[in-house]
Order: sequence, then structure tokens, then C-alpha cells
Amino acid sequence: MGTIQTLLNKLAQKLKIKQIKPHGKVDKILRYVKYILLFLILFITYKAHELILRPYDPWAVFMHLGSGSEIFEEFLIGFIILIAIFLSSMFIERAWCRYLCPLGATLALLAPLSIFKVRRSDSKCVDCRACTRNCSMGLNVHSQEIASKTECISCGECISRCPVDNTLEMKKGSIVLSLNKMAAMPLVILVIVVGSNIALGTFKTSSSNVEVLNENGVLNDDNIKGYMTIKDVATEFSIDTNIILEKASLPKDTDINKPLKELKNDLLDKGIEFETEDLKEVVKELIKQSY
Ligand code: SF4
Ligand code: SF4
Repeated sequence: MGTIQTLLNKLAQKLKIKQIKPHGKVDKILRYVKYILLFLILFITYKAHELILRPYDPWAVFMHLGSGSEIFEEFLIGFIILIAIFLSSMFIERAWCRYLCPLGATLALLAPLSIFKVRRSDSKCVDCRACTRNCSMGLNVHSQEIASKTECISCGECISRCPVDNTLEMKKGSIVLSLNKMAAMPLVILVIVVGSNIALGTFKTSSSNVEVLNENGVLNDDNIKGYMTIKDVATEFSIDTNIILEKASLPKDTDINKPLKELKNDLLDKGIEFETEDLKEVVKELIKQSY
């Protein structure tokens, strides 16, 4: 989302859309909003014992953009918020990251622990302010020894814009991290994490360990989603796929490996109406029989 916001902002600048640059007290107050949102989300979720804010979560929408029109049923408000985020980034660079993102707030709270930080050498600095003008997070880099202990996202933009060599550096003591190394690091970490999980056979791209019943002993059918296949559901709820097909009156050659949201169209072509909701009913019925 950060990348999309930056690209949209660059496009807006090319289109000569006037940029808003909150500064001083206004900027400072706005930066607190994301911490308030983080606190509220944690508090409400803790009280409700479930993710009741999920339909408003632009991140959840972002992760489900491939689910077609279903997104409007489940995440209409979240979708509107996501569009608002992208539009706002055309006027304020990374407005969402700077002022509203609760994940950004979490990372900002952890940032003081980071080993490498962007440091400025006062003796070499010529005060051209190119770093501040181009900072993705709107920080006053030119006036600080360390760019920011919390809000800096280590994008390296300021370092690449600084006209004086070795004035702005990502460093810890005498160890300097070049821009290339900074860019390579997340990729290396990603390859190590994903690679080791693939090697160990623990890499999964779908949910697991679904709670079949909730705390009141009622079936947790919320865990049956349009992205799941009949096989996924059968595995999660420990039911034989053939029993599900029979109970749902679906043909034996039904593709049990196709996501439900796609399967429904295949079945419709055969004149069979079958929605994710129908599968929930079938599973509910089967679970009832077995308990
Ligand atoms: S690396 Fe530089 S440009 Fe990027 S957020 Fe930090 S201070 Fe701003
Ligand atoms: S871009 Fe470099 S020289 Fe210019 S103000 Fe920033 S640190 Fe100083």
C-alpha cells in the first residue's frame, strides 16, 4: 500500500495536482491520530472478543481485491476507505502511513529498537534541505542528527537525494549500510523465511486450525470463506468430501479444488445454484449430526 501511495503521489505531481504539506503543530497532532486508532482497535477487539472492525479494514480489502464483486458484499465500507486512502495520497504523500495507519503506529513504537538508523553528519551538511523536501514521511531530516527514532520508514529516499557524499547514512556506529544493501535486505529475509518454510513443509497460503465450534458450542461458520475450496472445508471440519457433495446434492465430478466463489459460476453454468452460504448450511447440518 505504501508503494501504491508513493506511485500515485508521483503521478499527481506529474499532473500538477497541488500538494498539501501539513507542518508544525498540525502535522504533529495529525501524527498522533494513528496511535489513537491503534489503541481504539485493540480496545474494541479485546472487548468484543472478535475482529468486529474487519469489514472496515482497508488492509483486509487490499488482501481480497482479487475476489471480485464479493468484496462489496463483505467489505463495502472498507473498500470506500481504501479508495479514500489512495485518493488522499495524491494530495499528501503517504497520508495514510503518516497519520492513520495503525500498523504504522505499531511499527513506529518498535522503531526505536532498530539497529540501523538514518544519521546526518552536521559537519558535512550544506543545509540544502533536499532530504527534507523529498522525505516520504514528511520528516525534517535536515535539522536532526538521527532522522527520526519513530516515524522514519528507512526508505532511503533522503540518502539518495543528498548531494554531499557520506552526509546522510544508514548506520550503526562505524557500520554503514549502503542503499543497495538496504534494498536487498528485505528480499533476503523474505527468501530465507519462505524458503525455510517450504523446505520444512510448513509453508501455507490458506488458513488452518479453524475452530469448528465457538465458545457457545455453535458452529463457527464464519470460517467458511469464498476463497476456500470444498476440500479445504472438508479438511478444516474433518468431513469426507464425498459426504459434503452428497449432502449438498452436488455432482460427483464437482471440482473440490476450486475456490467456492469461482465454483459457484461453474455450477451455475450447469444450472445448479450453490453459494458459500449453502455450504455453510450443509456443514452445519453435518456437524449437528456428528455431535
Ligand atoms: S529514510 Fe529518509 S526519506 Fe525515508 S522516511 Fe526515513 S528520513 Fe524520510
Ligand atoms: S540533503 Fe544532505 S546536505 Fe542537504 S540538508 Fe539534507 S543532509 Fe544536509
